[in-house]
Amino acid sequence: LVVLKSVNKHFGALHVLQDIDLTIERGEVVVVIGPSGSGKSTLCRTINRLETIDAGTITIDGKPLPQEGKELARLRADVGMVFQSFNLFAHKTVLQNVMLGQVKVRKADKKKAEANARLLLDRVGVASQADKYPAQLSGGQQQRVAIARALAMNPKVMLFDEPTSALDPEMINEVLEVMQQLARDGMTMIVVTHEMGFARSAANRVVFMADGRIVEQAAPDQFFSNPRSDRAKDFLSKIL
Ligand code: ATP
Ligand code: MG
Repeated sequence: LVVLKSVNKHFGALHVLQDIDLTIERGEVVVVIGPSGSGKSTLCRTINRLETIDAGTITIDGKPLPQEGKELARLRADVGMVFQSFNLFAHKTVLQNVMLGQVKVRKADKKKAEANARLLLDRVGVASQADKYPAQLSGGQQQRVAIARALAMNPKVMLFDEPTSALDPEMINEVLEVMQQLARDGMTMIVVTHEMGFARSAANRVVFMADGRIVEQAAPDQFFSNPRSDRAKDFLSKIL
């Protein structure tokens, strides 16, 4: 579904993505881990073209990423993204947050968009918060709204960049559970996270990055019990 071939990106002198080859099949859940600064966020951001690349190709469903305009807006809808900071529209209610893109980008009629939004809010467990503003919600609730908002666009793939890192410990699980369910429902997902429990239970594959490269990728069981590279061994010894 998502194919990256020899993707390279620089920030000035910094070679932040180096010859990245990565294929994500439909329905696959790929967890990306690695030290700070290894390029995990940049990798995610190239896939919905929040960052351009210097060399290589990225295709979704066999089509290269569009450069601009309406096509680009559609790409961002096809590739849902959930960030560490929830990035909800502060001056819109929860319901409006989840309706907006459906109406603007997908051209859904308002009634249908609202019905779909309420369904999704129910699915992520915040139906009762529909008429509140984001600031009135807990971090865990806001993040679940952010997930519902991305899902409302009926995305082909969902990117999560450390979705639980900004949350208080007691709210982490409620967000991970929504993500687990999404994985079980067959959503194609790329997840940057330090939650190794999630990686073990939900991922089909773990991708380990360091210094802008994919150093190693393997099934979670294999990766956690028997990492091949010294970089991965060293990283795991620090976090497990
Ligand atoms: P973390 O685990 O801390 O989130 P990461 O693996 O997500 O790290 P990136 O955010 O992708 O790492 O950053 C990779 C490198 O690129 C870092 O050295 C970072 O400082 C640099 N970088 C990221 N964004 C930019 C930018 N817009 N301009 C310049 N350098 C950047
Ligand atoms: Mg990051």
